[in-house]
Amino acid sequence: MLDLTQRNIEKAAKLMHSAKHITAFTGAGISAESGIPPYRGEGGLWTKEDPQVLELNYFRNHPDESWRVIRKVFFDYFAKAKPNAAHIALTRLEQAGKLKAIITQNIDNLHQEAGSHTVYEFHGNAQKLSCMKCGKQYDAAPKLMEKLPPMCRDCRGILKPNFIFFGEMIPQDAYMHASKEAEIADVFILIGTSGIVVPAALIPQQAKQNGAKIIEINPERSSYTDRISDIFIKGKAGEIMKKLADLTLGTT
Ligand code: NAD
Repeated sequence: MLDLTQRNIEKAAKLMHSAKHITAFTGAGISAESGIPPYRGEGGLWTKEDPQVLELNYFRNHPDESWRVIRKVFFDYFAKAKPNAAHIALTRLEQAGKLKAIITQNIDNLHQEAGSHTVYEFHGNAQKLSCMKCGKQYDAAPKLMEKLPPMCRDCRGILKPNFIFFGEMIPQDAYMHASKEAEIADVFILIGTSGIVVPAALIPQQAKQNGAKIIEINPERSSYTDRISDIFIKGKAGEIMKKLADLTLGTT
């Protein structure tokens, strides 16, 4: 007899096979198998570092201290991570024309490194830094971060990574595209996201209200599971997504 996970994978693959517009919505959990811990929970980043370094006022008043943590966590550490089987499965689904877009809350660039094209970064990204005084943009090259805090060459303003800090606005473009996806998708796949970070968590809810079927992949039940998920597949993103892509694309 097939176990529940396998049965749910098969149900999800059938749904995806006949879907017209599939959108993926990813969170920190999809990158866990690449070695990047989520923010919260066991082994989470904030059990080791103080999250106040990502509060805008704190950052303005303590740029040296904030930047020491930011460089260690988001640049030295993230730089070593490579896309895993889940990122790659999403890229295969996009290349086959099945997956239309990825909305990610992550800032680690792993979807793009895996080769995915249509990626909306809901919380910005760590690839660029911008001057807090004049707005000039810089590539986040390690050389720029040798001496902290990194400063603007033109006006000597402090540079800030282009991912959003606590309390900052969601990038307008990403919000607009994500809302559009929630309007037009007939299947939404939620991968590795707890659903407690708002306003990001409202996007899958919007999709559900607009008639999308929700497939959720997570080793733990989340705040979505009992509220909006139609198919909950319990397991790790890499393992499940590979099987799901294989079945959907008929490569097994
Ligand atoms: P979260 O930390 O709130 O939740 C992570 C979820 O992933 C949990 O539900 C957990 O059960 C699940 N998970 C853990 N291991 C998994 C695995 N192997 N496969 C699938 N799921 C797994 O994450 P969130 O919902 O994305 O929200 C937190 C915020 O943290 C987001 O804003 C995100 O931008 C940010 N963040 C990003 C990164 C990154 O860029 N990689 C890392 C840490 C935090």
